[in-house]
Amino acid sequence: MIDQFLVFKPSGIVEFNYQPGKNFSHVTNSFIEDVLVSERKIKPVAGSEVKDDDAEEEDDDFKEEQLDDGEYQTLGSYASDSHNLKYLFYRNQSNEKLVFVIIFSSLLNFRKPYDFLRDIKNLYLNSTPEKFEQFFNLRLKNLESTLKTTSDSATPKESTPLSRDVTPVVEKPTKKSKKQAQSKSGKKSRKWNADGSFYEDDGNPTPLDFSQNLDDTGSTATTANLEQLVGNKDNFGKTTKSGEFLVSDLSEEMDMILSSKSAPSSKKAETSSSTSKPFGFLRNIIGGKTITKEDINKVKNALSHHLVKKNVSPNIANSLISEIEKELIGSKTQNFTSVEETAKQSLKKQLIKLLTPNSSINLLNEIQSKKAKHEPYVISVVGVNGVGKSTNLSKLAYWLLQNNYRVLITACDTFRSGAVEQLRTHVNNLTKLAHTPNQISLFESGYGGSDLVAKIATGAIKHAKENGFDVVLMDTAGRRHNDSQLMAPLASFARAADPDKIIMVGEALVGSDSVMQALNFNKAFGANRHLDFFIVSKCDTVGDLIGSMVNMVYATGIPILFVGTGQTYTDLRTLSVDWAVNMLMS
Ligand code: GDP
Repeated sequence: MIDQFLVFKPSGIVEFNYQPGKNFSHVTNSFIEDVLVSERKIKPVAGSEVKDDDAEEEDDDFKEEQLDDGEYQTLGSYASDSHNLKYLFYRNQSNEKLVFVIIFSSLLNFRKPYDFLRDIKNLYLNSTPEKFEQFFNLRLKNLESTLKTTSDSATPKESTPLSRDVTPVVEKPTKKSKKQAQSKSGKKSRKWNADGSFYEDDGNPTPLDFSQNLDDTGSTATTANLEQLVGNKDNFGKTTKSGEFLVSDLSEEMDMILSSKSAPSSKKAETSSSTSKPFGFLRNIIGGKTITKEDINKVKNALSHHLVKKNVSPNIANSLISEIEKELIGSKTQNFTSVEETAKQSLKKQLIKLLTPNSSINLLNEIQSKKAKHEPYVISVVGVNGVGKSTNLSKLAYWLLQNNYRVLITACDTFRSGAVEQLRTHVNNLTKLAHTPNQISLFESGYGGSDLVAKIATGAIKHAKENGFDVVLMDTAGRRHNDSQLMAPLASFARAADPDKIIMVGEALVGSDSVMQALNFNKAFGANRHLDFFIVSKCDTVGDLIGSMVNMVYATGIPILFVGTGQTYTDLRTLSVDWAVNMLMS
């Protein structure tokens, strides 16, 4: 519904560009020329003004706001070429400037555009580029539910462009190229140089990757900066009245950022169920009628193509669409609802059903029950090499520490050199972050073959029981899921450790291979044992291409416990089904 959203520096460097269709850079360029370059306070041109229903917003049409800590922002409006442009000009205490611009048709009845701009600015300034993209999409979905066009048939109102001289906007990193660059090199954070340009920094927050730079004790120089390792604790979650620390989901995180920022008169829009834009390719197909096989055939390819683009495996995309087909053929579209909309809603329903766990996941209760019997709760983490097993195991440990449990991390990867030291570094860090000095400890016995793994597992459980640890977290060796020789020891490991939960860590970015990974790990523990949960790691690196989680859950029926959203100890979230489905449909 909005035509373009840009974040750029006054120098013209574009830092973020949301552009669902045509490029409206001519509108932005006129704005730059007329408002930024000539520093004129431009009021909306007569006739092109957006009538906000809310008087409070109309007062905002040119507004200067002094924020906390010497920050400053100006909100204003501009019009050109049948389009309205609302802007937020932000300056921080170091005099670094950013311009946030939203462009939309003058036919659009856009309520509270300045609230949207303020929210987006706060999200931009308080998140990494990957997170910002996710937050932007979420906030946009919220916005879409509140937007309505005044009249599709109305003649666009005349507006007088204030200038035709165009200063080209320098299209620096596009959304896509930026994303690609980042997914190759992992998470990066944005830093500003004194001259207002920016660079991406791998080192902040420090990744939880301790496979290198180890000294003799397994510590790293990075252990000094615990704050960086923890990340943003405020967004991690909250303690309930009954004292449980629950991990947030992404939409809660966005709300937390927004509510912690002084965004005047910012009221959150209701959660949207609308996913109108991306399925534009289906738009011209018949409205209100009994749906036939031919109707479905017309939409089938487009739906399947869309899901595959999001990393859903083609077979699973086709299976989902067959289910839609079964549900819809012979049914009637509702009044004023097109086949497109009906198919979309049906797909959405399927995805919600798929991703919503059947059993309630209440790990903390289960841990508590075993604790009451003086028995440690055993969780083992499995997965392919490099997917983030030890990192996410450490995030689990950090979460358990917030719940005041005593945690014994156990090094069952006895194959890969450096694996034990890597875990020791995590344990050293987590010890410093724990409430009490003995809240977390490492159980290890060096390196060796499969027999040693079983011995370590049983030894750790015994040690935990004798020493009052509540949870045993077992790291295992990474292995290729399609190598039966490497997978075979998992069955004997599962017999020896008899874990209460086996969690597979799978990467968000693997795409189709995630199906076989999930299936092979699920059957590796013998006939009577299977995986209990997935943690889908590196969700911060894939933007909206989150189809792997659909693949894993569809192939096995196993629910997602958490998603990994970065490289600090607090970058763990529960899956927000709304968020995931919106991403898949966007
Ligand atoms: P393992 O071999 O499966 O134990 O993998 P590691 O835990 O050593 O992780 C491999 C790399 O992935 C490290 O650089 C981690 O920092 C990184 N990593 C793990 N989880 C995430 C995540 O959720 N997001 C991002 N961006 N990186 C992650």
